[in-house]
Amino acid sequence: MFKGLRESLSRTRQSVFGQIVNVLGAGEITEETWEDVEALLIQADMGVPTTLELIDRMQERVSSEGLFRTDQLVEAMKEELRGMLTDPPEFEMEKPRQLTIAMVVGVNGSGKTTTVGKLAHYYKERGKRVMMVAGDTFRAAAIDQLKIWSERAGVPIVSGEPGGDPAAIIYDGIRATRGRGYDLLLVDTAGRLHTKFNLMKEIEKIYNVARRSVHQAPHEVLLVLDATTGQNALVQARKFGEAVNVTGVVLAKLDSTAKGGMVFSIYQELGVPVRFIGTGEKIEDLAPFDPDAFVDGLFEE
Ligand code: GDP
Repeated sequence: MFKGLRESLSRTRQSVFGQIVNVLGAGEITEETWEDVEALLIQADMGVPTTLELIDRMQERVSSEGLFRTDQLVEAMKEELRGMLTDPPEFEMEKPRQLTIAMVVGVNGSGKTTTVGKLAHYYKERGKRVMMVAGDTFRAAAIDQLKIWSERAGVPIVSGEPGGDPAAIIYDGIRATRGRGYDLLLVDTAGRLHTKFNLMKEIEKIYNVARRSVHQAPHEVLLVLDATTGQNALVQARKFGEAVNVTGVVLAKLDSTAKGGMVFSIYQELGVPVRFIGTGEKIEDLAPFDPDAFVDGLFEE
């Protein structure tokens, strides 16, 4: 079942975590061991603060538990890595309720449109009635792209004219679901906003329309990050985090990168759970994020 996750980790595994066992070799933990571990983790795009935090925790364990062999260190590392991926709060998209509204945010090129298509497919396959809203009215191409994904997923889409008011389209989308048994409204949003002020204004408007129309909406704000950009994605994530309450990350393109270590910095530095990973370009290439499978997949041969 987690084949998608395991396979998408192959680059990260082959170039980094799988190497840890080799690089450390079999023997005793030395000063050099710590230097090697640090270099590998930074190479996996875990980020400096998260790497140092992990090394701190491992050093504590080494002294408190009297570990001295490198194989013991690898085991301790797996446990500490798993501990960093704290169990997330309940996922609102899985809850039964009248209508769940999920905003999908992220910069252009991150994989946002593809992710909206994949999410629609994913939840439709699981028996939910899904509708999309083309809230990125800045680009005609974005509306057209999303229409293609709505056809592929076989779910209806509400869209307006390019240049239209995104908040009005979201309002139309919400109205279109009324009394028709929809479970999930996926709202695409603009990703090419030149200043933070614009981003705040647009996203807040959408946020407010959702909130006024449906109880506790938007229930999720999913941030799509491009895994191939590694630590740069975290910089973007912070900017979005200043504008909206991001409830989860979808890490797109994990299959195309060795930078899978960034998952740990998403948890440690942003404090946001990863909900899904993108495992390819096709509609079914989306896997729910599973922390146990993720950590296992980093090391497995
Ligand atoms: P947007 O501008 O953020 O809406 O980005 P798109 O959804 O158009 O995606 C940008 C590119 O990334 C496209 O070529 C997608 O096929 C590709 N892409 C998106 N998600 C994934 C993924 O999980 N894996 C891979 N390999 N490619 C992806």
